[in-house]
Amino acid sequence: MTQYRMLIDVSRCIGCYNCYLACRDEHVGRDHRPLSAPQPESGHKWMAIREEERGTYPKVKMAHIPVPCQQCAEAPCIKAASDGAVYRRGDGIVVIDPDKASGQRALVEACPYGAIFWNEALSVPQKCTFCAHLLDSGWKEPRCVEVCPTQALVFADADDRGSAVVKPDSVRSAETLHPEFGMKPLVEYMNLPKPCLVGEVSFGDQVQVPAEDISVFLRRGDHVRIAVTDCFGDFEFDNLEAGAEYQLKIEQVGYRAHELRLRMQTDLDLGTIILDR
Ligand code: SF4
Ligand code: SF4
Repeated sequence: MTQYRMLIDVSRCIGCYNCYLACRDEHVGRDHRPLSAPQPESGHKWMAIREEERGTYPKVKMAHIPVPCQQCAEAPCIKAASDGAVYRRGDGIVVIDPDKASGQRALVEACPYGAIFWNEALSVPQKCTFCAHLLDSGWKEPRCVEVCPTQALVFADADDRGSAVVKPDSVRSAETLHPEFGMKPLVEYMNLPKPCLVGEVSFGDQVQVPAEDISVFLRRGDHVRIAVTDCFGDFEFDNLEAGAEYQLKIEQVGYRAHELRLRMQTDLDLGTIILDR
């Protein structure tokens, strides 16, 4: 039996909002009962893009995390509904029946992912359906996936062994958003933001000359990662493990080696590391 799955690679998301707009195009003012009532003109984000600022000033960057309904196997919205108004289909998609759910405003609070929105005009709670009305008519993927220009969103039947959502590599590195909720979502993620380490290298005897092309080594146990400084002397290590201890080392011919032990908890800027002769 078909079992849909969505894989979201956060490192590929450029925050273009095409997916959000495609969702609005498909659902605003369009009635897809019994799967969904029309989405209102404003206020709903069935495909939300969470913007997460990373690093500390002046070395900051933004991660964009697309968050649709996670289509949970253990969905509290199903338990919170009366009259079977929220149910899980055989293909895994969780549906809010717009007619049965009429007036059930409490469902908005039942979703810890914030994926359910209240439609004031229709008096109904609403959310992403993976465009189930399209899938049921033969579409291979929802509109958000179709328009994503970077393939940050991938969608397939979990039984399709050739699909990127079930390739061994992606399965191994896939994780769920907020695993502490324990809701077994069908939506999985790759490259969710993890602590990053940044810094800048400078020569003590040539402060005007950027320390470009310097190799910076970061060791954890037997595993060593290497970053090379850019034209400003900046380096960066991303996706480090929170709570893990690392050893940073810079060796440059003609300069004293620089060594540092650190434990990563959150994003960290080491500032300027000066290499002395
Ligand atoms: S993400 Fe929220 S709305 Fe979607 S199935 Fe899970 S609990 Fe229900
Ligand atoms: S369309 Fe793709 S790249 Fe653009 S915001 Fe959505 S997921 Fe990110």
